Amino acid sequence: MQIHSPIERITHKVPDGVELYIKRDDMIHPFISGNKWRKLKYILQKAELQNRRHLITFGGAYSNHLLATACAGAKFGFRTTGIVRGEEQLPLNPTLFLCTQFGMQLIYADRQSYQDKYSLFELYSKDDPQAFFIDEGGCSPEAIQGCAELFDELKENYTDMVVACGTASTFTGLIQGAQNQQHHTGHKTTLIHGIVVHKGAGSLAAFTNSYITDTSAYRMHTGYHQGGYAKTNPELIAFISDFNRNTGILLDPVYTGKMMYAVYDMISKKELGEKAKILCIHTGGLTGILGMTDKF
Ligand SMILES: *Cc1c(COP(=O)(O)O)cnc(C)c1O
Repeated sequence: MQIHSPIERITHKVPDGVELYIKRDDMIHPFISGNKWRKLKYILQKAELQNRRHLITFGGAYSNHLLATACAGAKFGFRTTGIVRGEEQLPLNPTLFLCTQFGMQLIYADRQSYQDKYSLFELYSKDDPQAFFIDEGGCSPEAIQGCAELFDELKENYTDMVVACGTASTFTGLIQGAQNQQHHTGHKTTLIHGIVVHKGAGSLAAFTNSYITDTSAYRMHTGYHQGGYAKTNPELIAFISDFNRNTGILLDPVYTGKMMYAVYDMISKKELGEKAKILCIHTGGLTGILGMTDKF
């Protein structure tokens, strides 16, 4: 299926010499948004090939991955079960509400049992040969393969590419994509920057290293989590509101807001080169902002 993810230039507060672009993966689909479309592509193909028509997956109460899986399931003919970390949400928040609208069955798991996702899968897939396990955030080799394909859509070369990191699957896929592209075209490789949005950066580095041996191909930035996953502060919120108002491109406080904040910070500190041509990836996830309206 053809996807629509245009590249736009951003000039708001960008210094002369630097070129800043954003790839609008958020426009791929309103709910199978951004990187989630790319991540699910080969996962769903695999499930289909194995004739397993019941997707069971995992996420927090505001998980963009749960919503993407619910919608993709409805669109491509899979039953879906979402195992949600934490207590039952009543009334349902906007993300979970949309999941149920796409037919996802929600099951809540306390934080303790959520630690062991394979046991939960065993428990809820008993007697169902059609059940198919998808890890939290869609983290898998198939997700990495899907994200690497973003490079096939690029018509120009960029010095730097920047993406938010949750599980770092998207980041790792982009590094692979850059390496494949260089292999085929001989162009100078794009340096891939991952902006880690939580405090668990240690395990991410190990994850990326398990796929990528050339550590000069990327930078993982661990200082932009702003207090931790889904944590915000007035400076971040002010930055996001200013960006939204001046570009018409909506950022969320959990992923893309922190990513873009990091981009401007790195530009101002001249960490990206004064002639940098930067491509940021808008990974979507705009329902995230709807769960945080009280912060604005
Ligand atoms: C899920 C998500 C990410 C994180 O992607 P990973 O591949 O897990 O690193 C980034 N941005 C948005 C908007 C997301 O929904």
